[in-house]
Amino acid sequence: MAKYIFVTGGVTSSLGKGIIAASLAKLLQARGLKVTIQKFDPYINIDPGTMNPYEHGECFVTEDGAETDLDLGHYERFLNIFTSQANNVTTGRIYQTVINKEREGAYLGKTVQVVPHITDEIKRRMLQLGKGPEYDIVITEIGGTVGDIESLPFVEAVRQLQWELPEEDTLIIHLTLIPYLKAAKELKTKPTQHSVKMLSQEGVHPDIIVCRTEKQLTSELRRKIALFCNVKLEAVIEAADAPTIYEVPLLMMREKLDIISMKKLRIENKNEPELTKWKEFLDKLKYPKSKVTIGLIGKYLELQDAYKSILESFIHAGAVNECQVQIINIHSEFITENNIAEKLEGLDGLLVAPGFGHRGVEGKIVAVKYARENGLPFFGICLGMQMAVIEFARNVLGLKSAHSTEMDPHTTEPVIDLMEEQNAVTIKGGTMRLGSYPCVIKEDSLAYSIYGKTSISERHRHRWEFNNKYLTQFEEAGMIASGKNPGTNLVEIVELPNHPFFIGVQYHPELKSTVENPQPIFVNFIKAAKAYAEMKTETKNPLLQKELN
Ligand code: GLN
Repeated sequence: MAKYIFVTGGVTSSLGKGIIAASLAKLLQARGLKVTIQKFDPYINIDPGTMNPYEHGECFVTEDGAETDLDLGHYERFLNIFTSQANNVTTGRIYQTVINKEREGAYLGKTVQVVPHITDEIKRRMLQLGKGPEYDIVITEIGGTVGDIESLPFVEAVRQLQWELPEEDTLIIHLTLIPYLKAAKELKTKPTQHSVKMLSQEGVHPDIIVCRTEKQLTSELRRKIALFCNVKLEAVIEAADAPTIYEVPLLMMREKLDIISMKKLRIENKNEPELTKWKEFLDKLKYPKSKVTIGLIGKYLELQDAYKSILESFIHAGAVNECQVQIINIHSEFITENNIAEKLEGLDGLLVAPGFGHRGVEGKIVAVKYARENGLPFFGICLGMQMAVIEFARNVLGLKSAHSTEMDPHTTEPVIDLMEEQNAVTIKGGTMRLGSYPCVIKEDSLAYSIYGKTSISERHRHRWEFNNKYLTQFEEAGMIASGKNPGTNLVEIVELPNHPFFIGVQYHPELKSTVENPQPIFVNFIKAAKAYAEMKTETKNPLLQKELN
């Protein structure tokens, strides 16, 4: 059986529990241990799939089609492993299971209560991944902040597990904030003391306190935190602000978070963490040799978390190319034919983002047209690919009313249409085409040169689809379907062979990019953007210009 690490948070939300959990997991994995991470979220939604990105940021989709918290994206990107439905549990899911069991009569006439029935179900799910031989360590991140009413049953479940399991099989890490008061020129430990006290009142005592801080913790301050929070001095860990999240595992290694964790869990491990690849990646990230500017055309741009995986994929792809990728956010709602040239000025590539609903789609279509006509590297993801299809239909095929039936249910040219199996769907949660599907790629295509193979699989999250009735018309006019689902013939990839780099994919390649396995379309898109940037500077050079003339 595995050992269990629980990560709770105090003082405020958004302290980066997911990054701390993923960093510890990375260090333990780098020592040769088998580690996975799961996230328990105290909200009542069954999953974040039905939430607006403004509420919750991006919805991360796993191989098995679970719509999950974006922290699972961090876990996968750091650990280079796949997570699954079992790695994200919400209060809603817990209650749904318990209520279904009650309806089946499984509680044999008993009164069903938060304790023990809800807490038992939480515990069952907390232990589930660690039951087999697959993992040595299961890290569980508890969402929310200690003291919230809704996180109480989760903390209670941790308390019970701490009591039920052998002492060396559980470890509690509490992440808090040490604020710096400018006026007093001092770091303050009181909020941390209060939050540890609150956790202790709920029956859980932390073994390690990780302190988020803008300034270095002095040894005096560390001693104070250790004394008042009743932990060993070495168990006070400084988590200073880092220039990139990918630096955090190294910061945690310097603070010996992995060693202290293993000590409490009585894990004998003499290996040094093997982080050569990780450090190579960081070096390339920190010392780029060139720079490109990419326009991200989206509509949830006020909240960066809405496009988390896309932004991280650019970081991975930039590092491979030793190139700094600067992202310029461009709100699709404010793009028009008249201002497009000005909006896209200076860009070396254009990414049209995924999305739902009609807000901002016309701006996306205008942006695609500009990229297509001006040879600007273009990459469309999901809705972005659908917009590329509509743009081509309207402006190349001359089908002026072409649209997706998502935005215009009565369009006479439904080039993007609802999938057959979606017609009868009325329930919104978990009913999209979700998770991993195979795709077969045509040889002699851009997609083939990117992936270097004909058989791939990528993750999906959508209801609409390229309408195959139009395929011949598209291909004859120069937009080809270079990737298709082998079973259903659904179009997965479109491209323009007459363009330097123009690709649209119905799936979400950003969900599979990791530090160790950067996603190939992103890598090649940045390469194309670099080439475009070089070409621009060459043609600007007056001497060369003369030669060209
Ligand atoms: N709204 C589109 C669909 O459901 C695209 C979804 C997306 O971009 N993820 O097909």
